[in-house]
Parts: sequence; C-alpha cells; structure tokens
Amino acid sequence: MRIELLPSTFDDRGVATLEQRLTCFLIDDCVAVDAGSIAIALNDEQRSKVRDIIITHPHMEHIASLPIVIDDLYPSLQEPMRVHATPEVIDLLERDVFNWNVYPRFSDLKNDYGPVMQYMPIPVGRSFPVAHLNVVAVPVNHIVPTVGLLVSDGSTSVAFSSDTSETEEFWNLINDVKQLDALLIEASFPNGMAKLAEVSRHFTPASLGEELKKLNHNGMDILAVHLKPTYRDEIIRQLDELRIPKLAAMEPGKVYNW
Ligand SMILES: [Zn+2]
Ligand SMILES: [Zn+2]
Repeated sequence: MRIELLPSTFDDRGVATLEQRLTCFLIDDCVAVDAGSIAIALNDEQRSKVRDIIITHPHMEHIASLPIVIDDLYPSLQEPMRVHATPEVIDLLERDVFNWNVYPRFSDLKNDYGPVMQYMPIPVGRSFPVAHLNVVAVPVNHIVPTVGLLVSDGSTSVAFSSDTSETEEFWNLINDVKQLDALLIEASFPNGMAKLAEVSRHFTPASLGEELKKLNHNGMDILAVHLKPTYRDEIIRQLDELRIPKLAAMEPGKVYNW
C-alpha cells in the first residue's frame, strides 16, 4: 500500500514544505482519507483517478478543498465523486458546506454523464469496500463526530486515528488485526499546551505516549501526524524523548510504502 500525506504548502521553488496545515492522505493514488489539501496537491494523473474520498470528520482542515476538487472536476467526472462518511458527518456537510450558501449542493447536480457527487454512508463498526480496499471505521474521541479507520488491501493493513484524544474502540479494532503494518496517529500540540489539547480533544506527545500503552506493538511503523505547524520541531523533540520504537513524524509529500 502506497500512502502519501499530501502537502498543503510549498516553498519558493514549489517544493513541499514539512508543515502540515491541511489533512489529506492519498492511498494508492486513488482513495483519499480526508480532503484538506486534495485540490491543491494532486497531480493530473491522481486527479483523473481519485473518485473515493473518506471524510473522518467535518473540521475545516480535513474538508477545506473537498468542494473545490469536485468543482474542478465537474465537467469531466464520468462517475460521481463518492464521499464516504458517517450519516452524522454527511448531515453536517450538507447543512454547513454544500448548502447553496457556502457551496452548491453537488449531491443534487449532474453533468453530461450523470451525478457528480454521491454520499456513501459508512456502516460504523462493519467492514465496507472503498475501491480495491476494505475499510472499518469506529468512533474516536474528538469534539465532533469523528471516526478512526483501519484500511486493508488484502495483504497490508494501515490504521488512521484521525483527530482524537484518549479512546478505546479504535485500539480494540486494531489490536485484533493479525498484521498491522503502520499506524498514523495524531500528535497535535506540544506538552506545554496539554490544557488546550484536552479541551479540543487532541494528543500531546506525553498523552500519546500514555495512550500507546494500549497498543499491542508488533514492530509496525508509527507515524505522528496533524502536528500544529508552529510547534512542529518542539513536538518532534518531545516524541523522540518517548523512545518508542519506530515512532516518527510523517513527512508531507513523501510516499510511504508498506
Ligand atoms: Zn478535528
Ligand atoms: Zn484536524
């Protein structure tokens, strides 16, 4: 499985910078997990292939360019963009984004080929297909309805925590998997901002270190994501101090293979 955390900012030469401002993971060049930077960072080939987007929750940095990518592709979509989300999140997207004020209600619109956007309600806790992948979504502990994901292609399995603080179901799900190859988990704030992390339901390196005691660590890669750009270096230093094997910060723009 090939996974890239799409970059959201670029330097003067157009090279991806290390700060993660928006969240969008691209799997095997065709399935997106969240859509923060999707309209900014896809190349033309990826743009022609991505037709499935899983939205873990409706916070802006996870959906920022979802309407834009559908708008961009509008005339050329020969099949709808499938937006996989829980029924609660679909309701929020319809109410707050695709509401004819912020953006058109694309789920009601058609181009010459047919519908341009289709909601695919996620059956929480049960496996469902997304392109060539099998996905299981379970609720995690964030301030809006949010799911963590386990994604498998038949031989490789990767878990995505999405935004969360202390949680249980997610660990039960991933500890049950025979072979987990990678865990992408959030570490948003440095330890000095533990209060803010707690009220906004995110991890610091310290609380993540505690939480990872719930993981049956089998030697998989653990990649920290969602590091607030301003504190990136500090968070990475504090993650290193945990001395957890194979724990590192994920780099936007780099392709990881498992
Ligand atoms: Zn969030
Ligand atoms: Zn977030």
